[in-house]
Amino acid sequence: MFAKLIIDIANSNVDRLFTYRIPEELDVRAGHRVLVPFGRGNRPKEAFVIEVCDEYDTGFEVKSIVRTMEPYTALLPDQLELAKWIARAYHSTLCDALRLMLPSELRGGGVRQKTVRTLAIAEGVTPEEAEASMLKKDGTPRAPKQYEVFRLLKTCGVPMTVSDIEAYVPGSAGAVSALIKKGYVTEKGFVTFRSPFAGVLERDLPPELTAAQTEAVEAITNGEKGQVFLLHGVTGSGKTEVYLNAISKAIEDGGSAIVLVPEISLTPQTTDRFRRRFGDVVAIMHSRLSAGERYDEWRRIRLGRARVVIGARSAVFAPTEDLKLIIIDEEHEPSYRSESRPEYSADEVAIRRARLTGARLVLGSATPQLVSYLRAKQGAYRLLELPERINGIPMPEVEIVDMRTEFMSGNNSLFSKKLADALKSCVASGEQAILFLNRRGYSYHGECRACGFVFTCPHCEVSMTYHKFDGTLRCHYCGYSTRVPQVCPSCGSRFIKFSGIGTQQVEEQLQKLIPGVRSLRMDTDTTGGKTSHRDILDAFSRHEADVLIGTQMVAKGLDIPGVTLVGVVFADSSLFHSDYRSGERTFQLLTQVAGRAGRALKDGEIKRGRVIVQTNAPGHRAVVLSAGHDYKTFFALEINDRLHTLFPPFAVFARALFECREEAAAARFAERFASEAEAAVRGALAPDGAENELVFVSHGPAPIRRREDLYRYAVVFKLARTKHTSAAVAALRRVADGFNAEGFRGVDVNPGEML
Ligand code: ADP
Ligand code: ZN
Ligand code: ZN
Repeated sequence: MFAKLIIDIANSNVDRLFTYRIPEELDVRAGHRVLVPFGRGNRPKEAFVIEVCDEYDTGFEVKSIVRTMEPYTALLPDQLELAKWIARAYHSTLCDALRLMLPSELRGGGVRQKTVRTLAIAEGVTPEEAEASMLKKDGTPRAPKQYEVFRLLKTCGVPMTVSDIEAYVPGSAGAVSALIKKGYVTEKGFVTFRSPFAGVLERDLPPELTAAQTEAVEAITNGEKGQVFLLHGVTGSGKTEVYLNAISKAIEDGGSAIVLVPEISLTPQTTDRFRRRFGDVVAIMHSRLSAGERYDEWRRIRLGRARVVIGARSAVFAPTEDLKLIIIDEEHEPSYRSESRPEYSADEVAIRRARLTGARLVLGSATPQLVSYLRAKQGAYRLLELPERINGIPMPEVEIVDMRTEFMSGNNSLFSKKLADALKSCVASGEQAILFLNRRGYSYHGECRACGFVFTCPHCEVSMTYHKFDGTLRCHYCGYSTRVPQVCPSCGSRFIKFSGIGTQQVEEQLQKLIPGVRSLRMDTDTTGGKTSHRDILDAFSRHEADVLIGTQMVAKGLDIPGVTLVGVVFADSSLFHSDYRSGERTFQLLTQVAGRAGRALKDGEIKRGRVIVQTNAPGHRAVVLSAGHDYKTFFALEINDRLHTLFPPFAVFARALFECREEAAAARFAERFASEAEAAVRGALAPDGAENELVFVSHGPAPIRRREDLYRYAVVFKLARTKHTSAAVAALRRVADGFNAEGFRGVDVNPGEML
């Protein structure tokens, strides 16, 4: 027998199948990782077996596989297929695609399995005879401790850990050694798993489902193999409860399930809810696990001990056998898109995996991606709706405040009169508030009032952020920081102004408004550490603070019953961004933030949440319609605009990027690439040679023209979606593959951000 395999080396030159002989004594199947001699020196290398065949017809001598790395196949058949698809769809090497499926700790054998000592009655020992021989003539044991330990092992019938024995027979260590010496008992190493969870949680029982929830669960459970559902439910409508029930059904069916949640909401709050329902069969996968934990969680899943996997983006690759259900919660989150190669989208991968395994896929959100909702309308996904909150809790009341009129009437503080009053009365009545701000740092940038000089990073062409707590200016792209100068470096004036607002400034003004108010701040500057994000949330849920001030992070997955007021300090910062999705993002963000208010009953009473949105654009569609909780109208208007202006999902963007030390070189490469690629793309889009208006090409500096001392030039293609679009993208990629230029970063299709 022969095996075709991919060597585990990240180098596109060896990204092809090599054939090796399988020695007779080895059991090697597709999906095994094996050790093989490779290259001129026959160095041992790890490799993935893609396929096993019984013939090998070329005349070359074939080398033999040395051994398997694990006794089981590290990759399941559907994962192998998935990897092949990823390599094609995202234009990566097969090796890189395969690596996505495995914890990096597995490769290279860096992590040891954790073992514990166990004891069992030695083979060849007849328990009854041995027991009798341990007794004196009068029937009392010669060594009572040893006798007790032995009887314990006999009754138990299976190996016991040393610590379990100690729990039954305190002070047993000496007796255990004696029993081993006498040959009655043998010692074994027993492989165990490191657990990321502390302690055991009490199990909870599912509540009685509402009619809408029941309908959704049944639709999912009875769905066709590979079917995709879009669960559109307002915040607090019981989507998670639908997931939990659908998972229960999948497990009862002998299957397993994967639940993806945004990395930031992978808090104990979320995972505990699953653990309380499903106990030990829950595994988690995310980047904050230790290497050993990650490796062991992966093995627990692969060996079938864990059947419910909760994780961030990459958990879509979890080695679950009999996969019956995949859930993507908050499916609109940008974090489901990978930013390193291969640049996959978890939802696209999940659709593919569902098709390969027959699992059902549920995409859930209060504010689905426009493209998902469009697919549901067109019938590609089945739409399931939960239009109301549980327990009849009303949607929060959202009020919009025009900050321009506020300023004209003489109020130049960060809080409008309405928000200030609401904050005071909220705190006075012992309730909690969240203040949301779509920015970080104290101030966005610094400029000179006299000459207009703006402080920019010397390595990146972006303005630096002022951090008041240590008086520095920092670049968020490269980390460069410098002390704020006393005078303007350009004109010497002392009038340096910091404009824009940040969480620190909000906190200062809040303290002035309500002296002594207990506040907490959460943004990327305060949550650098491993657990601080969680610590802040925990403290806030214990009501150790009255007001939580934060950026994007506070918008997600936070379910704190005491919160009755949400203030959006400044709603516009994501609106006038150059990205065509900024309206969609703003709508999503405002809806999510508003959803944090008044989520539960307070002292058995329904407390209606209040949301105050401060903005300079009170008429903007995203602001007005999110205030009215009107997703459907927002969808209809926005999708219509995209159709008429030709933006995704009706068009595809592809961008080629060049990053060079010399600006002229970057510009030259971009120009040359644009002309070569345009010809190829036009040819592919219109195979009959007709002129067409369905391609737009531009080349020039990227929005961030310089970053980390490199000049950045881009070529952007906008292709209308037709039946020839994928051929055009393929043509573009072929040009890219053959394009030799230093600093060429390749082609991205529909990149998340085009900065
Ligand atoms: P979502 O995921 O849509 O935000 P959740 O599933 O978290 O909603 O539900 C919101 C709250 O309502 C939670 O506290 C949850 O425990 C509760 N809940 C959900 N479904 C029910 C139900 N059928 N009966 C009673 N309480 C429910
Ligand atoms: Zn100046
Ligand atoms: Zn920089």
